[in-house]
Amino acid sequence: MSDRFQKGFNAHQHGLLRTLYGELVPRLEYIRVRPGWHRLVDEMFAQLGRLPDRRGLRVARVETRNAGVLAIETTGLAAGAEDMIASTKEAARTTCEHCGKPARLVVKVSAPFIELGDRLLCVDCAHMFHKEIAHDHG
Ligand SMILES: [Zn+2]
Repeated sequence: MSDRFQKGFNAHQHGLLRTLYGELVPRLEYIRVRPGWHRLVDEMFAQLGRLPDRRGLRVARVETRNAGVLAIETTGLAAGAEDMIASTKEAARTTCEHCGKPARLVVKVSAPFIELGDRLLCVDCAHMFHKEIAHDHG
């Protein structure tokens, strides 16, 4: 089996964000989050894009570093941007990386064909993911 929840952003959404906010949004390959966090990232760009003075601001990278840890690298400054980025990171700490529902559990991953690293998941996704990993071992 393969990892059904690989890190990567929705290409269609990325295209829309690029159209709306241009260089504020990094290239597709620099947004590395699983599907459950796509909405958080989408909303963050929408908020940053509405800042009145964001000429110097660029988001260089958005990446899942660890279970519940969203890393966001920026260059330049825009008043208000730090608060928006902080609240996005805060929301990620309680959001399932697979489906976007409230998260409860950290699942440790050690199966072949699955990217290594802990994941923050809701109860349903954790059960399902444990099953998939176990099935892979059998
Ligand atoms: Zn879930």
